[in-house]
Amino acid sequence: MTARERLQTVQNRIELACESCGRDPAEVRLIAVSKMQSVDAMKELYDLGIRRFGESRLQEAQPKIEALPGDIEWHFIGQMQSNKAKKIASCFPVIHTLCSHVQLVEIAKQDSSVSAFIEINVANEPQKGGISAEKLDAFLPDVLQYPHVHFRGLMAVGPAVAPEQMRRYFQHLCQVNQKVGGEWLSMGMSGDYDVAIQEGSTHIRVGTALFGAR
Ligand SMILES: *Cc1c(COP(=O)(O)O)cnc(C)c1O
Repeated sequence: MTARERLQTVQNRIELACESCGRDPAEVRLIAVSKMQSVDAMKELYDLGIRRFGESRLQEAQPKIEALPGDIEWHFIGQMQSNKAKKIASCFPVIHTLCSHVQLVEIAKQDSSVSAFIEINVANEPQKGGISAEKLDAFLPDVLQYPHVHFRGLMAVGPAVAPEQMRRYFQHLCQVNQKVGGEWLSMGMSGDYDVAIQEGSTHIRVGTALFGAR
């Protein structure tokens, strides 16, 4: 398949998912997850109209940010080492994986403002990033104290289960997001973005389905 065909397939599935639950496709933002993909492959998607890319490592992203056009919106989706958080915030206007006070302090040290999702560890998996939904009540007021850090909503990377089994995690995340006043919701990857859309996602993070295997 060509990049154009893969993008068309993803866009069709987004539209179908929206139709199935009465949502407007304009509410769903597609983030092309480009970790481990070449600048050339990214340029192809850029030329097809993609303007949001997601990267999970600062070192890998920096040369790509330099090489690609300036009108791209860069999304940081990897686990964030706190000693790199300040630099990450200066390169990425949107961070999906905020989950600690130390990160927050570092992010707030740079001048530009960032949009931030708080990452929730929805299935309480020890190897994954994010905080438990219970800890959110204590962490959110902390985030809201920093005027440069705009809390936008919640994010989760689900456990490796079948898409239909993800639904309950997505539903739970959406409920918690509404409770805390999140306007955006980052959930859904190549295998389950249509289920995520049906459950309220506004930002789907799609790698393999757009680029092919990593
Ligand atoms: C790699 C990654 C994705 C994309 O995964 P695919 O299955 O290739 O679509 C999405 N979100 C996060 C946080 C990732 O690390």
